[in-house]
Amino acid sequence: MTRLANKVALVTGAASGIGFATAQRFAEEQAVVVLADRNGPLLAEALARIQEISPESDSACFDVTSEQAWKDLATTLMNRFGKLDVLINNAGFGRFQSIANLSYDDWKATVAVNLDSVFLGTKYMMPLLARSGSGSIVNMSSMRGIVAGPNASAYCAAKGGVRMLTKVTALECAEAGNGVRCNSVHPGHVETPLTAAAYAKPELAKEFLAHTPLARFGKARDIANAFLFLASEESSYMTGSELVVDGGVTCQ
Ligand code: NAD
Repeated sequence: MTRLANKVALVTGAASGIGFATAQRFAEEQAVVVLADRNGPLLAEALARIQEISPESDSACFDVTSEQAWKDLATTLMNRFGKLDVLINNAGFGRFQSIANLSYDDWKATVAVNLDSVFLGTKYMMPLLARSGSGSIVNMSSMRGIVAGPNASAYCAAKGGVRMLTKVTALECAEAGNGVRCNSVHPGHVETPLTAAAYAKPELAKEFLAHTPLARFGKARDIANAFLFLASEESSYMTGSELVVDGGVTCQ
């Protein structure tokens, strides 16, 4: 359980779901985790649980779409740790409507949280990641960043954008020779607070599982394990790659 020993990892959207499971998994592997989220009360609860495993872990309450907040966090982390080893750009949500019914405000909010935040996190954390010597950025995309679904225009566009932004980041880091790798993770249907209401509807759950070859929903820890692999030295020859964790949905 030392796969992230001596590493500092920042996880966004860490108060809930996949982000929390990732923070937990990283703490189990001896990382110091900085949990970031905009939901203050939930974040405080999450941090208390993580500190039981990793007492030096900390939290940062901010909105990942705020450029100033990212700048401020970079200063805070530089003063506190002098480096960052792992950045997990995970925070996100979807607004699902047909193009005809999706408001432009909902389009912009979806793209801002899922895609703009990844650009901002990458931009402002890069100097800290370069100081690591073996930095790793892992971006949360989705199977919806690879295959489309109806009523998901903004979400698919944003997650597809994350997929390509990941590859550009990988190339720029390789060219700079700064030791930073960048990869993306593409989950399928995962049980979290975000999806709980939808999966509680028997008809919808049945439909989703019918096109999932492994015939079960993913667990947050299934995705956390993928983040762990890409965050650790075990994936040191991987950059610009996309790791699909979808129970086989996109094989078909
Ligand atoms: P979740 O709702 O359980 O957790 C998301 C967390 O992100 C919440 O704690 C929320 O407060 C935080 N967050 C949202 N907007 C934020 C903002 N602007 N600033 C800071 N924090 C913010 O959701 P989840 O299912 O764990 O999803 C996490 C990520 O995984 C998302 O990017 C989502 O698109 C992606 N994803 C989820 C699934 C799935 O089936 N659950 C599948 C593919 C991809």
